[in-house]
Amino acid sequence: MSSILTDRHGRFHDYLRISLTDACNLRCQYCMPEEDMSFMSRSNLMTVDELGTLAGMFVRHGVRKIRLTGGEPLVRKEAAEIIDRLGRYPVELAITTNGVLVDRFLDVFREAGLRSVNISLDSLDAELNRKITRRDHLDQVVRNIEMLAESGFRVKVNMVVMKGVNEFEVGDFVAWSRALPLHIRFIEYMPFDGNGWSAAQVTTHDQILELLRDRFVFDKLQDGPNDTARAYQVKGFTGTFAVISTMSQPFCESCNRIRLTADGKLKNCLFSQGETDLLSALRAGQEVESLVQQNIRSKYARLGGQLAEDYHDTDPEILKNRAMISIGG
Ligand code: SAM
Ligand code: SF4
Repeated sequence: MSSILTDRHGRFHDYLRISLTDACNLRCQYCMPEEDMSFMSRSNLMTVDELGTLAGMFVRHGVRKIRLTGGEPLVRKEAAEIIDRLGRYPVELAITTNGVLVDRFLDVFREAGLRSVNISLDSLDAELNRKITRRDHLDQVVRNIEMLAESGFRVKVNMVVMKGVNEFEVGDFVAWSRALPLHIRFIEYMPFDGNGWSAAQVTTHDQILELLRDRFVFDKLQDGPNDTARAYQVKGFTGTFAVISTMSQPFCESCNRIRLTADGKLKNCLFSQGETDLLSALRAGQEVESLVQQNIRSKYARLGGQLAEDYHDTDPEILKNRAMISIGG
């Protein structure tokens, strides 16, 4: 399909991730710098109307799936209004959230036809969870995950696996999916501005499987054509688990994702240095589609043209990017 959303490498981008805000009620160490984090001013955020207009333009050009993210999307004052508005587009609507506020949004999700919720949780241990998130919401998040799963939502639990921090918990997360239909996803730790990443802290896909083999017998599941996760299931378990191996085995060839930041900049890759300011153009009454086309056509074949093929060779000091919290993961 030829479209302004097709890049020079033949990839058609039909999956748009929209960040609603760079604000958050947690302070995860791997996501944001401990110091010097400057948040966007409200006047720089897309309004509900601007977000709706830009999303509508992408849908007209072939976007079929929209995921809301952030920062924490549910702390945005107009979150319910945005979800309601996007629910009217002919797309699969999904959200990635830290889960703290989810119980307040179940009806909003249902009414908008939003059935798929990804919740981030990196440790089931109270003290370690507090250390990673610098906040104290573990019980609430666990309750909300179980409530969503029991209420028929499709729930993925995202755990960023960091060597020497939480990798010994991977088995406990998988055990959680024994009787509950949870889809546990282990994410390899990625480098972003100011997050202190080093190659030595990455626990890879193969290492995660090795840790799990001690405790479980599992089968490989069939992955979809654009999936970024390699999925498995323990024999007899209700849920599944998967590994997002961006560092050790990237999925760039089949990438169909683009991102719109909360301040209306288009990023064609999580690791792209460049971004295109769609919001300023929209506010100035300029035509936006040609900017989108230029941005998509400039997409690098692999890893934003910035990361090394072997992640051990990536020097986090020379990467030029935003902090994850202000990209929208
Ligand atoms: N606040 C929401 C949440 O935590 O789910 C949405 C935004 S958060 C930036 C989106 C996802 O990015 C989360 O699953 C988070 O764990 C992941 N993430 C953030 N920093 C990361 C990093 N350095 N490496 C891998 N994943 C990361
Ligand atoms: Fe907030 Fe999500 Fe980043 Fe944690 S991972 S600081 S919850 S945006």
